[in-house]
Amino acid sequence: MSRPTNAFIDSGALRANLQRVKDCAPEQSIMAVVKANGYGHGAVKIANTLESEVDAFAVCCLQEALVLRDAGIKLPIVLLEGFFQAEELEIIVEHQLQIVLHTPKQFEAIVQSQVEQPIHIWLKVDTGMHRLGFSPTEIEPIYKLLSQCQQVADPIRLMSHLSCADDLKDNTTKQQTQIFLDLARNLNLEASLANSAGVLGWSQTHANWVRPGIMLYGVSPFLNSVAQDDGLQPVMQLQSSLMSIKRCRKGEAIGYGATWHCPQTMPIGIIPIGYADGYPRHAPSGTPILVNGRRVPLIGRVSMDMIIVDLRNQPNARVGDPVILWGKNLPVEEIASLSGTIAYELLTHVSNRVQLS
Ligand SMILES: *Cc1c(COP(=O)(O)O)cnc(C)c1O
Repeated sequence: MSRPTNAFIDSGALRANLQRVKDCAPEQSIMAVVKANGYGHGAVKIANTLESEVDAFAVCCLQEALVLRDAGIKLPIVLLEGFFQAEELEIIVEHQLQIVLHTPKQFEAIVQSQVEQPIHIWLKVDTGMHRLGFSPTEIEPIYKLLSQCQQVADPIRLMSHLSCADDLKDNTTKQQTQIFLDLARNLNLEASLANSAGVLGWSQTHANWVRPGIMLYGVSPFLNSVAQDDGLQPVMQLQSSLMSIKRCRKGEAIGYGATWHCPQTMPIGIIPIGYADGYPRHAPSGTPILVNGRRVPLIGRVSMDMIIVDLRNQPNARVGDPVILWGKNLPVEEIASLSGTIAYELLTHVSNRVQLS
């Protein structure tokens, strides 16, 4: 029998989460974000499930877009970081990809290119995140130049990214939205600002196109909240089964570094998943894991290939019994928070040793 660790991907939950996007933003076009292999869920499967229901996909870079094109995905695909080398432009045109344009260097490369068809461009404005994009005052001149450029397709669209929308009390989102909408209105451009937090929590950010990522996968984009609070359903269930059970005596140490000692004679269970599978190494002792649907605590350090749990409240557990690391009844947001990170990181770190099913 092969190693039982795998990630079940629930297409029904994915569709329900997309419906949640549509309920929040019924008038908007939808660019479904499937970068980083669909946030670790398998970009091709996610794209196939969503293709007839959304207007475009977004990925990080050319390489990720080509995986989708090779799998037969026909919808527009936007490269959120644009291109890095002028040589990419030819491939971008050939595969009908759209780009985010955010530097003068990219602009120069387009002007100097001899592409066979015009390129679809999302012009990126930096409204306060100070990561990618032109400053608001640079947008009008660059827009004018682009609109006269034969290598550039109509319409040119405007995009920006929210830096603090996960915190519903933070004022930054209002400021970013104001700057963005003023620009879009002045230049009369189709525009996109909202990520998942924008879709769910800030209706004034919806503009013409929304760009949901994490919410599609059934994870809350907000601080201190879980999927259920936002009407979302977890799409990934990371699961395995018990590979070994043993009794340890009072005082015996568990795992690398002997960081945990048995307070009494007790049963422990070994589970074949570790940080090389994407289970967070910093998950502390006490982190919940479901064995036969009931919470048991992780004990000792997470190893590369295995973890150990305390089975005192599951005395009848047997080798082969089902284990869930996160999913419907155990929020990935909770595991992330205990491990000092965010669910985005846990999902995208699920390694290719874990079969997606
Ligand atoms: C990743 C990303 C998104 C999606 O963000 P979520 O928080 O996952 O919804 C949207 N826009 C840009 C530019 C991104 O990089």
